[in-house]
Amino acid sequence: MNSATEEKIRVAIAGFQHETNSFAPSRAGLSEFEMADSWPGMMRGRSVIKGTRGMNLPIAGFVEAAETESIVELVPILWCSAEPSGPVTEEAFERISAEILERICESGPLDGLYLDLHGAMITESQIDGEGELLSRLRQLKGVSWPMVASLDLHANVSPGMVRHADCLCIYRTYPHIDMSLSGARAYRALADILITGQRPAKAFRQAPFLVPLHAQHTGSGPARALYDKVRSFDGVSGTHAELAMGFTAGDTPDTGVSVVVYADSSARANGIADEILAELRSSESDFCTRLLSAAEAVEIAMSNAAKRPTVIADVQDNPGAGGSSDTTGLLRELIERGAKGVLSGLIFDPAAAAGAHSVGVGSVLMISLGGHSGVVDDNPIESRFRVVGLGNGKCAYTGEMYGGGLATLGPTAVLSPMDTCAEIKIVVTSVRNQCLDLAHFTHLGLDPNAAKIIHVKSTAHFRADFEPIAEKVLLVSSPGHFPCVLKDVAYTNLRQDISRL
Ligand SMILES: [Zn+2]
Repeated sequence: MNSATEEKIRVAIAGFQHETNSFAPSRAGLSEFEMADSWPGMMRGRSVIKGTRGMNLPIAGFVEAAETESIVELVPILWCSAEPSGPVTEEAFERISAEILERICESGPLDGLYLDLHGAMITESQIDGEGELLSRLRQLKGVSWPMVASLDLHANVSPGMVRHADCLCIYRTYPHIDMSLSGARAYRALADILITGQRPAKAFRQAPFLVPLHAQHTGSGPARALYDKVRSFDGVSGTHAELAMGFTAGDTPDTGVSVVVYADSSARANGIADEILAELRSSESDFCTRLLSAAEAVEIAMSNAAKRPTVIADVQDNPGAGGSSDTTGLLRELIERGAKGVLSGLIFDPAAAAGAHSVGVGSVLMISLGGHSGVVDDNPIESRFRVVGLGNGKCAYTGEMYGGGLATLGPTAVLSPMDTCAEIKIVVTSVRNQCLDLAHFTHLGLDPNAAKIIHVKSTAHFRADFEPIAEKVLLVSSPGHFPCVLKDVAYTNLRQDISRL
């Protein structure tokens, strides 16, 4: 180590991301955190920096911001994520948490820690995974250095997270086009604490209502105005405001919308938090929560005479929110009504993809497509399908949200149902991925611009890449493991005072 390095501030960086859907039957085990899916697989040491560089990920933004200054030596620990699902297994949480703590303890003297977290992790035994991890880090013997974390806009922020972290920086866009920027803000917050030696005062508020995710779109409606309000405090010295819209499929006492404010005095932090909470409450009735039935949406889409496609979002079967990405309600409606010029994706069905690969392009085979995940009122589509394309599932994202990254879809097939007048090309994958990037279709030679209807299994992230080419966007309440009609959800852990939009 040279003398220049010895003088630098040593900051450990780590990431452990999961968004947990209490109503999904699946689990996120160790192998789900180790494998690549929408994001890279588990990385340790220097590969954390190398493997995330240039991507729209919080840790990549933190690293880039740190590298533009010469004051910090980064100590990469471990980074991992798993596709959203049911709870994280006890084994996965304990082993990953223990490894993060051990590697931090073995890293020599540190001055600070940055964590890339989601903020809606539930494990088989912990209802607040991130609060538990932060608590364990705080209890490390001899540790008093500041800890800063970035969180997803869908974080269900807990009092424990606020208490243990010196600062939380939360994404401000949905679709999440600012993940890297949120990491950069976290760097600034941590650097300010380390340079000044001052930890900011905090204020925390939880709003008394839930907003379903399809109504949280920050490009329109009340969410846009609320985040404009939050940003208005940027640049005020020592002050910043954070707003999380919450993840409504996590059934916890902290589920819902929350506000965290940091300032140079407790009075100022509390004043701003109350101001934002008041605006939240006054906008409650403005959130648009309406969803169409599959029949309504397909009828509207088929009557669209415009050249640009209609995008129909299957919002309750979003694998990016724990959905199985294989329900068939909307797809069946498209087939039965004879819709033409349709692209559909991404249907998670490894057996169907393997069957298509075994017979090859141009072949026809009987398939029970989708409907395998036990969703009530959902069944496979039993039909002959023609194999019209095959792929290895390596797909370079091209959209604003994930551009620079690589999707791992596993063996992939494009299937067209036979014995129907419908004309549909369905992208079938072997790894669950949310359909949010045009490349999910284009890498297989399919042209979304030429489609009449595009069916996507996504709640809002698809908007970043698909809305610019769409004539209109329709949101549909077909069956899925990600409930968006909140009045019907069988919560057991919500706060008593909370209402559901
Ligand atoms: Zn999110």
